[in-house]
Amino acid sequence: MTDARHFGSYDVSILVDGTYRAPIEHLVHVTREEEAARVARDWGRPTIDVPVNLFLLRGADGPILIDAGAGEAWGPDYGLGRARLAEAGVAPGDVRRVLLTHLHGDHALGLLQGDAPFFPNADVLIPEPEWRFFRDEAARAALPPARRGGFDLATRVLAAYGERARVFAAEDEATPGVKAVPMPGHTPGHSGFQIGEGADALLIVGDALHSAELQPSDPDFGFVYDIEPRLAAASRRTILELSKRANYVVAGGHLDGFMRVEPFGAGWRMSAA
Ligand SMILES: [Zn+2]
Repeated sequence: MTDARHFGSYDVSILVDGTYRAPIEHLVHVTREEEAARVARDWGRPTIDVPVNLFLLRGADGPILIDAGAGEAWGPDYGLGRARLAEAGVAPGDVRRVLLTHLHGDHALGLLQGDAPFFPNADVLIPEPEWRFFRDEAARAALPPARRGGFDLATRVLAAYGERARVFAAEDEATPGVKAVPMPGHTPGHSGFQIGEGADALLIVGDALHSAELQPSDPDFGFVYDIEPRLAAASRRTILELSKRANYVVAGGHLDGFMRVEPFGAGWRMSAA
């Protein structure tokens, strides 16, 4: 767990839930396929390894989480965020709200213990377009089976949390002091969050970025997990430009620690903040 840093009205810590080893073949390039093949050839390792993060926000209103990790669903190498939470002195019953960036297993399965809610007193707040998409039967049928996990997750989260599973509107305050920032493409309703204002603000970018090494200099690099690859690339460009211009501190579902974005060549680069 990182040391807590203060943004807006919250102390924010990054909790590492595990390490995801993305097979190098899962790297794509949305405009020039040969670019992904070139990186795969030169990478020197079979995987691109990224942390799986969740975020603990502590403020006047009790502990809030952004994302929930994988829980027990992905085996013993994941779900470590639960131990980090316990070390921080936060019991599952203390958590008031869990805000989701999107409905993928490594971000949302940690909400569940079997079919029961792991956070028995929490409200679960989901981006409205994400909830709408992943509860749409026609949308499910249109996607290949390997991309349908979010639909089952929506059903299970609703069954476990009932009326406490609620939506927030794009660009609204998802909870006091935490503004939703739409970043569609990775999933249709994928949302980031801004905490605080100006150069003292933190922008949590969820899965809009998976690699601080490859994507800032060429945002057309993506991973097969992006449901709408070109829209995801466009969102990456918007976020990188915004973060550079506003000098935001940036963190993500799969980035290492707190970072900043600076211009580099025709694109950007990211380094530890
Ligand atoms: Zn994802």
